[in-house]
Amino acid sequence: MSVADPEPLRVDLNGPRFDQPVIEDESQPYWDAANEGRLIIKRCSACGAYHHYPRPFCPSCWSEDVEWIEATGRGTVYSYSTVYVNDLPPFGPEVPYVAAVVELEEGPRLMTRLVDCTGEDVEIGAAVTVAFQRFDDDQNMPVFRLA
Ligand SMILES: [Zn+2]
Repeated sequence: MSVADPEPLRVDLNGPRFDQPVIEDESQPYWDAANEGRLIIKRCSACGAYHHYPRPFCPSCWSEDVEWIEATGRGTVYSYSTVYVNDLPPFGPEVPYVAAVVELEEGPRLMTRLVDCTGEDVEIGAAVTVAFQRFDDDQNMPVFRLA
């Protein structure tokens, strides 16, 4: 075997899926809202800071007085990468796709995918808006489109 001829990865394409979230009590409302076509994040009632991923306390001031609010769904591309190889099920047939970190208008950043575009269409700072993609029989995933 040489560097130019690597041994292929041996992944069971019928094995466990790697695109499904682990939904816990704290994040259940987030996933329920996604199924309703809404993007929600947490806001601290004590200091006004927004945060995501959802936590039962504010990461800025540690107050436990946090509430869910509906985000505008608008943001900008903070970082992105075109994924050409991903052998983890079910991503294999989906390459190439654009993985991204989107900075929401409210401030928090989230890992996501940019859909209906290629990496060549994307620039850092590009305006994006949330969309929802059903990724299995009963769960929506927030994704983003170029605005
Ligand atoms: Zn706070």
